[in-house]
Amino acid sequence: MYEIQHLIDGHTVTGSSGDTGPVFDPATGEQTAKVALASAAEVDAAVASAKAAFDEWGGVSLARRTKLLLAFRNLVVDNSDEIAQRLTAEHGKVLDDARGEVARGIENIEFSCGVADALKGTHSEQASSGVDVYTVRQPLGVVAGITPFNFPAMVPMWMFPNAVACGNTFVLKPSERDPSAPMFVAELFQEAGFPPGVLNVVNGDKVAVDRLLEHPDVKALSFVGSTPIAKYVYASATAHGKRAQALGGAKNHMVVLPDADVEMAADAAVSAAYGSAGERCMAISVVVAVGDVGDQLVDAIKVRMEKLVVGPGTDPGSEMGPLITREARDRVAGYVQAGADAGCEVVVDGRDQAFDGDGFFLGVTLLDHVTTDMSVYTDEIFGPVLSVVRADSYADGVQMIRDNPFGNGAAIFTRDGGAARQFQRDADAGMVGINVPIPVPVGYHSFGGWNDSAFGDTTMYGPEGLRFYTRPKVLTSRWPDPSTSSVDLGFPRND
Ligand code: NAD
Repeated sequence: MYEIQHLIDGHTVTGSSGDTGPVFDPATGEQTAKVALASAAEVDAAVASAKAAFDEWGGVSLARRTKLLLAFRNLVVDNSDEIAQRLTAEHGKVLDDARGEVARGIENIEFSCGVADALKGTHSEQASSGVDVYTVRQPLGVVAGITPFNFPAMVPMWMFPNAVACGNTFVLKPSERDPSAPMFVAELFQEAGFPPGVLNVVNGDKVAVDRLLEHPDVKALSFVGSTPIAKYVYASATAHGKRAQALGGAKNHMVVLPDADVEMAADAAVSAAYGSAGERCMAISVVVAVGDVGDQLVDAIKVRMEKLVVGPGTDPGSEMGPLITREARDRVAGYVQAGADAGCEVVVDGRDQAFDGDGFFLGVTLLDHVTTDMSVYTDEIFGPVLSVVRADSYADGVQMIRDNPFGNGAAIFTRDGGAARQFQRDADAGMVGINVPIPVPVGYHSFGGWNDSAFGDTTMYGPEGLRFYTRPKVLTSRWPDPSTSSVDLGFPRND
């Protein structure tokens, strides 16, 4: 069986631990590959390679870094289809969705190509007589990235292009569920001409993560995944004296006001709740229907759900694929039952849809009259389940968002400019959409939530990403009075 190894110092390396994890095709339920699970020894080798590479890479000119990043960007563009196919094969998302993921990753590489402009620093001339003060931003050294299963190509590209653009070297630990796409992207990075060791990939699980967390040569750590692990990673990394940013889970609300365009809101709710089988940290999982809009909105969502085609991601007719694992599928189905038991109305029950074969498929579910004490409301389900909560007023909707511990994204649907503008201020979330259900920032802004959706004080990619991957150095210089110079400067001083 095909075995996915590590990429260390520019070479494919077989793991010494002998441990492997299974990789499935979620559309068939079959195991298609094994992935090596690193022991501390592989992590140490990857960090040592990155440390050695940093000695030179940290001083490589901005012009050369940019050329290599542009070459990498072009290779990713040329191989987009291959990356997308790998995503569909191991994650299950439909090919269109997979192509979208690659496109968002490319946006981040393109941003990193502009690093020369972004890292210009600041300069204060003549702060005192003959004294100049200037600030430069320098790389940190070896930095690590730990990424989740749901965007196996894009999330690594949120991190390492910006990190290496700033002069760091990188160790990536992708999700063990779908490692082929990030491995292929790392191979393209090598092919672009980066020196060995600038980007290393260690596949693995908690063992690899824990070694990265404690390794004295890892200076900073970027994490994206679930909230409990984000909390753990942030606490452990900072306790080990590292700079850390850790993005966690979500429960994103979409408030629909009575004046909203209901057809537009229903389209948005369906694509944002069920796209990628709801396995997106920016998925909408709660619709807050304000006032009398609820019945009409639920009907409009239901009509659209009946037409939604669930099937293998490789089938061009499919609009939603399977879940990542059998366990994930069963867990999500368990939430539908918990909602029914708690007394909400199951308008569409995804468990009723039958599928041929052993794929990890589940149909789409719509729950109405959900209340905030139910587990379908309190927990991140991470599957194709949308809950509708009825609210009497705009203020009740906003209060719900504020009371929820997560704070990744929030959206409002309305035609009222004043209400929309007020929501911008009121929503307790890091990314807010006005008539946009999934407000993922473009690559030249930065991505990150609030509250239990993110730990650390910088968000990811864009300008905040560059800030995270560099540290400021302030230089103060004084030169002798020009009149004492041994060179005749030819004209008088001007101060
Ligand atoms: P996860 O937390 O299970 O895993 C994330 C990473 O942590 C993986 O690389 C995994 O190997 C590692 N890991 C898992 N358990 C660990 C442990 N006990 N100790 C150390 N490391 C461990 O998350 P997932 O299931 O891969 O991804 C889905 C989650 O990620 C969802 O909660 C989703 O909301 C979140 N997510 C958040 C964002 C965001 O930007 N906020 C983006 C994508 C996904």
